[in-house]
Amino acid sequence: MQQALIELHERHRGNLDGALADYIPQLAMVEPDQFGVAVATTDGQLFTAGHADRPFTIQSVSKPYAYCIALEMIGRKAILGRVGVEPSGDAFNAIIFDPKTNRAFNPMVNAGAITVAGILYEQVGEGAFPLILDRLSQAAGRPLAINEAVYRSEVETGHRNRAIGHLLRNCGAIDGPVDAILDTYFRQCSIEVTATDLAHMGATLAHIGENPSTRRQVFELNAVRDTLAVMFTCGMYDYSGGWAFNVGIPAKSGVGGGIVGVVNRQLGIGTFSPRLDAQGNSVRGLAAFADLSSDFGLHAFECT
Ligand code: GLN
Repeated sequence: MQQALIELHERHRGNLDGALADYIPQLAMVEPDQFGVAVATTDGQLFTAGHADRPFTIQSVSKPYAYCIALEMIGRKAILGRVGVEPSGDAFNAIIFDPKTNRAFNPMVNAGAITVAGILYEQVGEGAFPLILDRLSQAAGRPLAINEAVYRSEVETGHRNRAIGHLLRNCGAIDGPVDAILDTYFRQCSIEVTATDLAHMGATLAHIGENPSTRRQVFELNAVRDTLAVMFTCGMYDYSGGWAFNVGIPAKSGVGGGIVGVVNRQLGIGTFSPRLDAQGNSVRGLAAFADLSSDFGLHAFECT
């Protein structure tokens, strides 16, 4: 696996397609050529290539983990009344709700993730962000922290997310102080991770909630199952169908350039490369996942 990762990294290193996210000004300032890949197995091994230990902000890769925590706290029936599980087919920041339910389509797009932040805020108030940070840290197997500059940049420019928050409050999907809920959401997006962290975080889900390196149970079994299902159908924004078809690994991407993938009972995969395609997915991350899936037969419906 180690040799295969080095070759994979080499194969895609020269691909400079795509562009940095710039709607959050601090994201436009990262070094664009960084590229790291990491794979963690459920029996505790780690393989890395390239810039696997460079920090970047987790952004939307935090969304399945926050959803998993909310599932544990209020249960799947209650959460389904607040946010759906249907792929939206729209961009991650779309200001569109499911017309049948008047709720966000799913927890992997901004509207759904802000709803989830609202649920956590209802449950534990100002403790919501520390709770998210603690559980993500347990999944990564080390203490994580936020990137203050990115956090401030999100707060200063997050008007679209504010609009979504107020609409959610207006239609009753969230019921609490919108500014504090958005602050929780902005902070969770600003948590700094590496590709290696994402591999461990993926392996924790692959190992049905137990971090294979620390042996600590981080998430509950049923919540993990529900989270993986939503990652599989909705994790890659409006490329989710194509991703399920071509790659077939439950995954979540973020505009910081990270992607986490979960090969059930086997592997967590983390990639980092900040140049994004039109859907907001990391270009070299997509290429690396596609190769790993075909080279190692990781597609969920692999037949050979
Ligand atoms: N913080 C970003 C936002 O809310 C996260 C989006 C993403 O990674 N797709 O716009």
